[in-house]
Amino acid sequence: MRFALFGDIHANLEALEAVLEDAANQGCTDYVCMGDLVGYNADPTACLEIVRSQNWPVVKGNHDEDASEDHPLEKMNPVAAEALEWTRKQLSDEQRAWLRHIRMVRQVENFTVVHSTLDQPQSWTYVTNKFEAMSNFSYQFTNLCFHGHTHVPRIFIREDRVTEIEETSVIINPKFKYFINTGSVGQPRDGDWRACYAIYDVPTSTVSFRRVEYDLLTTQQKIRAAGLPEILAERLAAGR
Ligand code: ZN
Repeated sequence: MRFALFGDIHANLEALEAVLEDAANQGCTDYVCMGDLVGYNADPTACLEIVRSQNWPVVKGNHDEDASEDHPLEKMNPVAAEALEWTRKQLSDEQRAWLRHIRMVRQVENFTVVHSTLDQPQSWTYVTNKFEAMSNFSYQFTNLCFHGHTHVPRIFIREDRVTEIEETSVIINPKFKYFINTGSVGQPRDGDWRACYAIYDVPTSTVSFRRVEYDLLTTQQKIRAAGLPEILAERLAAGR
C-alpha cells in the first residue's frame, strides 16, 4: 500500500487536481484527507464532491466545522470569516450536513489521522514546535499520526524526548512515535506556493513530502471573480 495524505485543501480545485494527478503518477493506492476541504478559496463545492465521491477517509477541520454550522464568526480573523460566510452560501444543506458529520479522529490501517492534535482535537490547537507537539504524543497510541491545520509540513519524533527534524522524508522506526504534518494542498504557509502533501509507502516504511505546481493564475482569478478578499489571491503566490 502507498498512501497519499493530503489536507487543508481550502476549496482550491486546481491545487487538489494537481495533487491527485501527482499521487496517481507516484503510484499511490490509497488516499486519506486531513480535513479543511473548504474555506478561503473559491471552489468549495467541487473540492467537497471530489473527496466525498471517492469515499476516502477524512477527518474534520475547523473550517469544515465553521462552514457547516450557523454560529457567528465574529471572533475569527475577518478575512477567514468573510470567506466562510461566502462558503456557507455556496454549499447545499445536504453538503453542509455531510461536513458536519465528519469524524474528528480516525484510524486507518496502522496510523491515526486528526486535523489539529489528538489531545484536544475539538480545541483546534496549533502545533508549531516540539513543545506543543509533546501533549499530542500522550494521546497517540499508534506509531504514526498525520495531521494538518498549520499549513506547514513538519516531522515531530518522540524517542526518549520530542524532536523536530527538517527533512522532506523519514523512515519510520517502529520503536518511536511520529506526528507528521502533511502541509497544505490549497494554501501553503511555509513560503513555498506549490501544493503540498505526503506519501506514506508502507512496504519501505517511508513518509515523504511532495510539492506540486498548479494553475495558480486560474485559482486567483476565481477568487477575484467570486468577490472574495483580494489578500486571499495574493497570499497564494507568496505561500503565506
Ligand atoms: Zn486549514
